[in-house]
Amino acid sequence: MNGKRPFAMKMDPGAAEVIAALHRAGYKAYAVGGCVRDSLMGKTPHDWDICSSALPEQVLAVFGEARCIPTGLKHGTITVKQSGGLYEVTTFRTEGTYTDGRHPDAVDFVTRVEEDLSRRDFTMNAMAYNDEEGLVDPFVGREDLLVRREIRAVGEPVQRFSEDALRIMRLFRFAAREQLGMDGATLDAALMLRGNLRRISAERIREEMLGLLAAKQPGRWMLPEIFGVILPEAAGDEAAFAHARRMIDAAPAVKEVRLAALLSGAGDEARAIMRRLRFDVKTIDAVCALVSLKDFAPETEAHALRAQTRRFLGRHGDECARHLCLLRAAQREAGEALPALDAFLSMAQAVRAQGICCSLKELAVSGDALIREAGVRPGPALGAMLAQLLEAVIDERLPNQREALLEAARAEECAE
Ligand code: ATP
Ligand code: MG
Repeated sequence: MNGKRPFAMKMDPGAAEVIAALHRAGYKAYAVGGCVRDSLMGKTPHDWDICSSALPEQVLAVFGEARCIPTGLKHGTITVKQSGGLYEVTTFRTEGTYTDGRHPDAVDFVTRVEEDLSRRDFTMNAMAYNDEEGLVDPFVGREDLLVRREIRAVGEPVQRFSEDALRIMRLFRFAAREQLGMDGATLDAALMLRGNLRRISAERIREEMLGLLAAKQPGRWMLPEIFGVILPEAAGDEAAFAHARRMIDAAPAVKEVRLAALLSGAGDEARAIMRRLRFDVKTIDAVCALVSLKDFAPETEAHALRAQTRRFLGRHGDECARHLCLLRAAQREAGEALPALDAFLSMAQAVRAQGICCSLKELAVSGDALIREAGVRPGPALGAMLAQLLEAVIDERLPNQREALLEAARAEECAE
């Protein structure tokens, strides 16, 4: 680049149209933040944010109320519908003082894009672009991103992390996701102020942690110092945490598997930890099942393995079986002397392909039928009978056939 000819970036057509409409109305407007960063890295941005000198009511006037969603009016953000897509348009703003380490006390609208860029967290996230002016990069984010390959705070790192401690998590998440290094002063400040992460809501910590865990190999960015604050139960024991990180790197980026690797040392505490981080019940159940099954030993003899697999599928489901196999491969790669689960996984697939019974819902006889046709009493006796029949079917002592099962139930009833 010679500095005169504007640098050309491939713009999303909808974003370009929103920017053009704002320009026609006499306002400044740019694509900004993540989309500029991702474009410079040669990636296709997942969304395009726009910043503009237009005030929220002016954005409303340009696009008409019907095409606008007042997403964050207080903060100057309006979502505009354009060309079938949604674009957040945010008025240039600065953030006033932060007294709580989380939220600015007030936002002030400003007129220059450079001022807006100066409130952003990292230089690589503090770039704006439009086709007329090219790249607006007052903090040399492009060079940090592409040449130095380092994440650097905009301005004074200690101040920036003091304002908003979530930026500490964002630092490690971006580093892991983009495989970037960190500017020394930025890293030092993040470590120094890590205690402020305690002020950040559990939900935001959780989302950032999930972002980190979704990176290809996040292990080296999972610093014990940081996790000691956000997840002391998992990071307290240095050796155990190092092992968890090796497993995480060895595992594919499947949320449940990576969380189970992270919490595998926490045992029964895993549920309480996940509740504290306000995970949803489904994820908690899935991860806790994996943690409790982490030492699962498959039967070696084919018949026994078949019955064990059917019981497993009936109790824990197919997804749990697949995830456990992924976790096991990671455990083994990290050096744990546990048996491989390949034969178990093949058996699970064979069992499913054959459509054979693994749970009560696949049993050829219903509770109703047992009451009506075999004289079983409703209540606990019925539950026990169903469980007993299922066991017999899984152990292949009885075929999964309605008549045979009713017969067996009648025989049991008589015997009592
Ligand atoms: P992603 O690809 O993960 O969405 P992103 O950079 O778009 O990355 P967002 O959280 O969507 O991240 O935020 C959009 C932009 O807003 C960022 O690029 C950054 O400029 C700014 N930003 C977001 N969060 C903060 C923060 N906590 N402090 C300062 N600036 C922030
Ligand atoms: Mg984004």
